[in-house]
This record gives sequence, C-alpha cells and structure tokens, in this order.
Amino acid sequence: MVKKLRNYINGAWSDVSDAQTLDVMNPATGEVLACVPLSPASEVDRAAQAAATAFPEWRRTPPVSRVQYLFKLKCVLEENLEELASIATQENGKILEEAKGELTRAIENVGVACGIPVLMQGDFLEDIASGIDEFMIRQPVGVCATIAPFNFPAMIPFWYLPYAIACGNTYIIKPSERCPMTMQRAMELIDSVGLPPGVVNLVNGSADTVNAILDHPVIRAVTFVGSTAVARHIYSRSAANGKRVQAQGGAKNPVIVLPDADFSMTTRIVADSAFGSAGQRCLASSMAITVGEARKPFMEAISAAASSRVVGYGLNPGVEMGPVITTQSRERILGLLDRGIQDGARVAVGGHTKTVSGYEMGNFVEPTVIQDIAPGSEFARTEVFGPVLGVMHADTIEDALRLVNSGQYGNQACVFTSSGAAARRFRYEAEAGNIGINIGVAAPMAFFPFSGWKESFFGDLHGQGKHAVEFFTQTKVVVERWPSDWSRKF
Ligand code: NAD
Repeated sequence: MVKKLRNYINGAWSDVSDAQTLDVMNPATGEVLACVPLSPASEVDRAAQAAATAFPEWRRTPPVSRVQYLFKLKCVLEENLEELASIATQENGKILEEAKGELTRAIENVGVACGIPVLMQGDFLEDIASGIDEFMIRQPVGVCATIAPFNFPAMIPFWYLPYAIACGNTYIIKPSERCPMTMQRAMELIDSVGLPPGVVNLVNGSADTVNAILDHPVIRAVTFVGSTAVARHIYSRSAANGKRVQAQGGAKNPVIVLPDADFSMTTRIVADSAFGSAGQRCLASSMAITVGEARKPFMEAISAAASSRVVGYGLNPGVEMGPVITTQSRERILGLLDRGIQDGARVAVGGHTKTVSGYEMGNFVEPTVIQDIAPGSEFARTEVFGPVLGVMHADTIEDALRLVNSGQYGNQACVFTSSGAAARRFRYEAEAGNIGINIGVAAPMAFFPFSGWKESFFGDLHGQGKHAVEFFTQTKVVVERWPSDWSRKF
C-alpha cells in the first residue's frame, strides 16, 4: 500500500479524501514512493482561514518569544538532517552529499531568522521639527504563502518560512507535487516544536491549488520559485489580486573562461556546477564561453571531467551524479540536444540516455558537453535543466561579455581568471544578480539575498536575509508631537 501524503492545517494532519492524487516517483529506481493529493481550493481556504485566525495572537507574541520556536526548530532539523537528506535524495535524485548541503542552507536560514529581534527593528529620529519625532515600525503583513519547485525540496521553503513566522506572519507552504515528501517530514518536525495551531500550514497540490492561493483574498503575500513561464503567471495574477509578490524564475547561466584561468581548478569547479544535481540547479553553469587560447585546454579538460563522472543512485557511495526528475524531462533534454545539433552544434562527450546497471528504470542522462553552439539558437537561449554544458567561443572578453548579456535570463554569471582587472570588469558589467569570480555556483549564504535579475526574477525584494525581512513586513511611519515645553532646555 503506497503511503498517501497529508495536509497539515491548523496544527493537525488531515487526509484529503476526495482529491485526485499523483504518484511521487524515485527518479533513480522508478519506484512509487508515495502519492500526493492535489488539493482543491477548499483545502487552501481551510489553511488560509486557520492562518488568519492564528494571526492576531501570533503577531502579538513578542519577537523574542517567537524566535524561541525557531531555536528549537534549528536543533530538531540538525538532529534529523541525515533522514531529511535521504528523503530528498530518494524523491529528487540528487546525491546524498548535495541533499545534505541543501539542508545545511535551510538550517542556516532558520539561524539567521533567529536574529529577528534585531533584524526587524525600525528607525527613529527625534526632533524632525521642534518637539516632533518620527519613527518607522515594521509590522507583519498577515497570511503569507510560498509555492516551491522540485529541485530543492528542503532548502527553498526555508528561504521564506522562518522569516515569515519570525516577523509575526502566519504561513502556508505548497511544496512541489513532484518532491513533496521532504517537506512532509520537515512539517512533522515543525509540528514537534509546539507552534500555536495555524501559524504554519502545509497544503499539497499542483496548478489548481496554486491558483486558489493566488486568488484567495485572505492571503496577503506570495513567494514563488520555479520556471519563468509560471513565475510570470504567479507575479501577474498575484499582483492583479493586490498581493505582495516575488517570483524567482528559470536560468541559463553563462561562465566565461579566460586564458589566464587555473585550468585544473576551473574544470573541477565548472564540472561540479554543470553536472552537480544532474544540472537541475537554478545556478547550474549551462553555457561556457572560452576566450582566446582557453578553448583547447578547457575543452579537453571538461570533456575528460564529463566522461569520468560516476552516474548512479544518489544514496550509493561514490556516485557523483543522479538522474533527472522525470522521463519527460529526459526526453525534453535529449530533444533540445538534437535540435542543437541540427543548428550546427557538435557533441564532444555524452548526449544520450545513460543506462545504470541495477537501475534500468532510472531517468539517467550522460554528462554531456556540446560545442559550437550558434549564438541566438534555441540551445543558446533555452534553459536545459539537465547535465549538459554548452560551449561557445569568443575572441575577446568584450565579445564574451556581449554573449553573457545577450541572454534573457540573469540568475548567475561567472568568470574564471587570475586577472583582478578582468574580474572587476566582469563583476561590473555582467547583467546577472549572482556573480561568481572563480566560483561555479555563486549561491548566496542565508544572510544575503538570492538575487536573480531579468527573466530570472519578477519583483523587487528577494528571498533570504534582510530582503526576506523587508518582504514579510510592512512599514508604518509615525509622526508624533508633544507639547514643546516637554522638551525644552533644562
Ligand atoms: P515549475 O514552474 O514547473 O513548478 C514550480 C511550482 O509551480 C510547483 O509548486 C508547481 O506545482 C507550480 N506550478 C507548475 N505549473 C503551474 C501552473 N501552470 N500554474 C500554477 N502553478 C504551477 O518548476 P519546477 O520544474 O518545479 O522547478 C524547476 C524550475 O525552477 C527551473 O526553471 C529552475 O531554474 C527554477 N528555479 C529557480 C530558482 C531561482 O532561484 N531563480 C531556484 C530553483 C529553481
């Protein structure tokens, strides 16, 4: 009997008996792990009403008391990190070390949110005019919701959840229907810290569930992470409904390799960025642009790194890369490669389905390097979200920067060089919100914003750190006059 996942609303677990369900698959084994309910709007309404009922008392709970729950949550997540990581590997396919890494970042966000008594402070200025003071207070927004993608089932909900509740909001999380099990277990741990009912709620589901969130009048703010097409929809529908919204979208992350780069370090790091998590990271390097004489040594080294990568089941020791999430995803990736070849590109390494002995039902793709990508072609423009590194060539750094800035996305751009001047110029001119200098996955720590630009982001305040605090609070400015003789000179 396959386990049916449940919703967590108003401090209690509940079955959604009349809902359609979807199988949650292990992408490495093809095994059905669980089934997830696709909750109807009535479940979103139950969660929103529970969160709205909990809000008045929770916002009056002093910040220093609110964060006591987060201190407990941090401990309980740390104690259960191995188990949560193992669940993430089973439902997502990434290797166990990568799953532990995302849990570590999730926990780091809980730690940062524990600083809310400082982070949430406002401003005060005495005597803006004689006897008149002015101050700005940060107050919670109300009921907030997050819609999460499949690729970081543990980390991405925690870009938001700890800040939302630490700021005094009540909250609904809607995990990805393809990877809902990690958050189901994390919710059991959240339940164990004793938060008042309704402060955090979990509703499983897919597009209809999301649209019910976007349309619900009680939900005041929405955060989203996922593909650009859906991000655009979330942003416009939430905004049309008068909600505060931030929506992080897809990516096509370029990396420039200059001739003065350290090739052994560069190759190791770029290979980890392109093939780590089977290329299903929003910060995966997807397009390398070699400059001048960097082309030959980089192509040789990256091809060797791709062909030697150990592919298999992420729970097995020694495995360096797991499968992609679904068979449809694998077909999409291989189709994109085929059309790239029709447009003139050449596969240097890989390019096929990978068969892994003992895991014949897994959605594995060979780590692939494809060169001579035509600028402006479908492959040059499209997010692959698989273990594929495209390679282009430019004669000068100016030409390489033009290629970097010609894309519609702006999630991340990286450069590998030993020249400080080239690195500074790149940092200054590259049109992306996360920049790596001799770094392949420039993922901001929890105390910096996750800064996508262009079609990788719709909104203004990002996830994590101070941006999250600003997003989950609304400012109130008070101008206050008292009789001027109360502040006269003594
Ligand atoms: P997705 O857009 O398919 O799904 C994300 C969420 O949106 C899910 O919870 C899903 O239920 C919901 N959804 C899907 N289609 C919908 C629709 N038509 N209407 C309403 N809701 C809908 O994304 P995914 O495949 O789960 O995740 C991969 C994508 O996320 C990639 O494009 C990746 O680049 C992006 N991503 C971006 C960042 C970032 O920080 N910019 C981080 C991680 C992932």
